Amino acid sequence: MKQNFQIAIDGPASAGKSTIAKIIAAKLKYVYVDTGAMYRAITLAAKRAGIPYQEEKEITNLLPETAIRFEPGTPVQHVFLNNEEVTDEIRSTEITKNVSLVASYASVRQNLVNRQRMIADSQNIIMDGRDIGTTVLPNAQVKIFLVASVLERAQRRLKENIAKGMTSDLKTLQADIEARDYKDSHRKISPLVQAKDAILVDTTGKSIEVVVDEITDIIRKKQ
Ligand code: C5P
Repeated sequence: MKQNFQIAIDGPASAGKSTIAKIIAAKLKYVYVDTGAMYRAITLAAKRAGIPYQEEKEITNLLPETAIRFEPGTPVQHVFLNNEEVTDEIRSTEITKNVSLVASYASVRQNLVNRQRMIADSQNIIMDGRDIGTTVLPNAQVKIFLVASVLERAQRRLKENIAKGMTSDLKTLQADIEARDYKDSHRKISPLVQAKDAILVDTTGKSIEVVVDEITDIIRKKQ
């Protein structure tokens, strides 16, 4: 049986993975899966249940009863936690600060990786995250490792936050991004690392359109 076409996009925080992946998914009519949103949803589920983020065991017990679902939407996909929309709430400062700890737990990763593989099993897919090319979809036909300078990533996030009416400053954003990257690349289980067969795409100083064209070219050559 012919394997579905799988595109894995990994990279550090705020490198533009979801923006780029969403545009490419729409162009190719592929399903887009934001795996970061799934880790964020579990983190929010812990918060709502009053479980401290350090309590790995209690968070593990929460997993079987935690449903996460996506619905297509523009400009962002809608994310549902146990049938309640949490699209904005999972992007709050508190969830962003604590998600890397929750994502470091073996039980959480195993549970979400299984869900991600199930989604990818039956359809052409573009999935973004930290461990897609290395762990979730090791046989993906296209693997991209998307990077940008930390200053530019912080500047992009600042612009987004201002547009949303949130107050934030560049220095804090840069420090938060660096701290999250450090945690994600130093955890024991499937840390953030470029897969051996992934193509490095540096988006520093490039427009979204240029990056989309660059990645579309890479995909076309593999299709
Ligand atoms: O992609 P996003 O920045 O929303 O991801 C939030 C967090 O979820 C990451 O900082 C990381 O800790 C975790 N994550 C992960 N593996 C993935 C996707 C996200 O550990 N595949």
